[in-house]
Amino acid sequence: MTKSDNSPLPSADEHYWTVLPKYIAAIDSGVTLTRRIAGQPAESRRYWASVLFVRLCSAGISVLHLCPGSRANKNGTFWDFSALAPLIRSLVQTGLMLFYLGTEAVDEDESRARLLIMQLRDCTERLHFFQHAGASSEKIRGVEATADGIRAKLSSDQYFARLPARMRKSLRKGDTESILTQDQILDRMGILDQAGRAFLGFVSSHADVSPLAYYRTGEKNRGRGEENDIDKHYIATAVDMACDFVLRANADMGALFAEALAVKSQEVAAEVGNERFRHAFEFVKQGQGALLEEFTDDDGPEGPMLCSGCFHDVGLRLSAERIGQRDMSKCPNCGSQLGMKLNKIALAVLAKEFFVSGTIERGRYGGSPSVQFNRHQPTSIDVMPWLRPDLELIERTLGVCRA
Ligand SMILES: [Zn+2]
Repeated sequence: MTKSDNSPLPSADEHYWTVLPKYIAAIDSGVTLTRRIAGQPAESRRYWASVLFVRLCSAGISVLHLCPGSRANKNGTFWDFSALAPLIRSLVQTGLMLFYLGTEAVDEDESRARLLIMQLRDCTERLHFFQHAGASSEKIRGVEATADGIRAKLSSDQYFARLPARMRKSLRKGDTESILTQDQILDRMGILDQAGRAFLGFVSSHADVSPLAYYRTGEKNRGRGEENDIDKHYIATAVDMACDFVLRANADMGALFAEALAVKSQEVAAEVGNERFRHAFEFVKQGQGALLEEFTDDDGPEGPMLCSGCFHDVGLRLSAERIGQRDMSKCPNCGSQLGMKLNKIALAVLAKEFFVSGTIERGRYGGSPSVQFNRHQPTSIDVMPWLRPDLELIERTLGVCRA
């Protein structure tokens, strides 16, 4: 996220509309990955990695709700960096814990010690909450017993035994969730340089509502949700930083679950290889114009393929503007920077909405789409002549066949 070259700073608009689509693509890849690894049997390291990865993706999606112009906040006009800051910090801290507890390759003793310290911290926080919330003494004793059990396990851990005595004493209190500091984890990840860490501190100050978060409110329209270049730059920089953590988490999770993911791909191939299953599967798919999964089950989403400016038909162009994502990159088809960009999934959604759902015919036994749009059956329809070039463009781009 940090630039060490001397290239001139982009405008706030250019910065934001370049970062946002990149971030959305990273989140989409993460969400696809959570689906692919769901239900995998996992020992404790992979289990906690999965839990934290889901948390990271959830925080990542919440960020989009506060980003004007994202698909979750399409017509948003409220630019509130301070509201975004706690979410960005949460995402970054989740990314750190995901690496520390889940994806960093460390030996078994160290891995267990890290997990025990996290669990001990969980106990002391619960204990604090129960004691002040007036919980029953039985409940409190239960948590105390769990904490004692964790301390006993720590005593027999070889890695923990090698830590300095003072550090061990401090860790046994359960006041911290990790053996390493945030900086130490960042060093091991090799992810944020000094400027990046300074910006993370800046985000954190806003999350904590320190004076930095409100001192300059009103100056150049800052801090009140109004559109202004400074907050837009801050939001873009924060989202860019979050993007680095999401991409890193995606890569690390892909590596941690590499075996399981490979087995899953083989299973799909084997299923398709089963002739009876394959025939039935193809038959079902032919009638399922609404089936979009086949366009989305590859290795995550891709970059823009078309844009709203690519289409001749006004209705199609308007739908594309609504479904597409603003993005400063040039459309690979028509070269426009201004058209709303459509990746494969968005294009499949557009095709479904416009050509399938939009052409419902009333049949004798209920309605059915008269146009099927999939990779298993050539499009057999005669569309209005002015739609023909648009339809052909979508077919070519999505790789659907034609008779
Ligand atoms: Zn275009």
